[in-house]
Amino acid sequence: MTPNRASLQARHRSVLPDWLALYYDEPIEITHGEGRHVWDADGKKYLDFFGGILTTMTAHALPEVTKAVSEQAGRIIHSSTLYLNRPMVELAERVAQLSGIPDARVFFTTSGTEANDTALLLATAYRRSNQILAMRNSYHGRSFTAVGITGNKGWSPTSLSPLQTLYVHGGVRSRGPYAALSDAEFIDACVADLRDMLGQTRGVAALIAEPVQGVGGFTAPPDGLYARFREVLKEDGILWISDEVQTGWGRTGEHFWGWQAHGQSGPPDILTFAKGIGNGMSIGGVVARADVMNSLDSNSISTFGGSPITMAAGNANLSYLLEHDLQGNARRVGGLLIERLRAVAAGAAAVREVRGRGLMIGVELVRPGTDEAAPDAAAAVLESCREQGLLIGKGGGHDTSVLRIAPPLSLTVAEAEEGAAILERALREVS
Ligand code: PMP
Repeated sequence: MTPNRASLQARHRSVLPDWLALYYDEPIEITHGEGRHVWDADGKKYLDFFGGILTTMTAHALPEVTKAVSEQAGRIIHSSTLYLNRPMVELAERVAQLSGIPDARVFFTTSGTEANDTALLLATAYRRSNQILAMRNSYHGRSFTAVGITGNKGWSPTSLSPLQTLYVHGGVRSRGPYAALSDAEFIDACVADLRDMLGQTRGVAALIAEPVQGVGGFTAPPDGLYARFREVLKEDGILWISDEVQTGWGRTGEHFWGWQAHGQSGPPDILTFAKGIGNGMSIGGVVARADVMNSLDSNSISTFGGSPITMAAGNANLSYLLEHDLQGNARRVGGLLIERLRAVAAGAAAVREVRGRGLMIGVELVRPGTDEAAPDAAAAVLESCREQGLLIGKGGGHDTSVLRIAPPLSLTVAEAEEGAAILERALREVS
């Protein structure tokens, strides 16, 4: 490690919290990027298959976004929600229309956590209940309320909470007590579990779920599960919150929102988003039916939420995404990449499963010949990829043994092929 990098790492360690983990034995400092590539402070170039945790959605240094941000910065960066804000109204109109929620209202925040916190505030106020259903193995953010509904203990540092949370089966298809069932039986078992649980509660406010669990290792139920849940929830007026922080904006290829794989019973009552829409500018938000959104009878603001500069970025980024059909690109290139990785997995004993859709692909690793999680192997693959010039992520519920692959949605076929070849070598090494 260069002395410069070692000293920055030491300064990081001495001034930032211990729980703010860094990737790699020798952490890297990313200094600039372009397209699907980034460079570190030593000048090494990487193909970026993680996009700063699924956040660089279109591309690094996308000229359209950079121009919109710098032009807006030259006019005004901040005004607050006390004044009319044209870029915010414009982005809200577009998101409301895209959301699929009828008579939708949009509230902008600065993060996914705050978006989910708002969704919980709305649902609990609307329903006058502090009971929330969440999925096992879920992740919804880092605030006090968000960790209280996060089913992944690795990311939930306290069990104290103003909410009473009940955890439902269904987010993880290939592990747990229902793993051996067929898709139809799996859904029936999860619905029966939900009904059983509801029979023992009174006045639950909402169910919150990620259509594809992100931090949990890109796991998902069979398509249609949440539509079946929705029918049960509707019987008691319980709201459905879809956390689209990772799955939104076409990343899953087949759908613009993750909930659309479960859309048979209509859209969710509340949808939360963040990450990709700002391409790195801090935008989060919540969309809800007007009666739900307007159910708060006090004022509420987010000083930074919807600031002109982040909204300018969001509008430019969204236009680029839609005009270049990046959802279609995610479907096509993601489809090729997943097929290629499945072929690699067939010859790599450490791979238990390759799963996901679009450009949201998980590769679960185990100790060869067993079903035991292999966090060491996942760490070794990350190191090997990094050596070879590829950045990927990792995650997973009870351990961290799932590789997470989520490049910007403009990924080209040649880049997918290049990344797959690097992953193939890394997976062979650990198998
Ligand atoms: N929900 C999901 C599904 C997420 O993946 C995340 C972030 N990883 C969050 C919420 C929280 O978002 P943020 O880090 O922007 O607060």
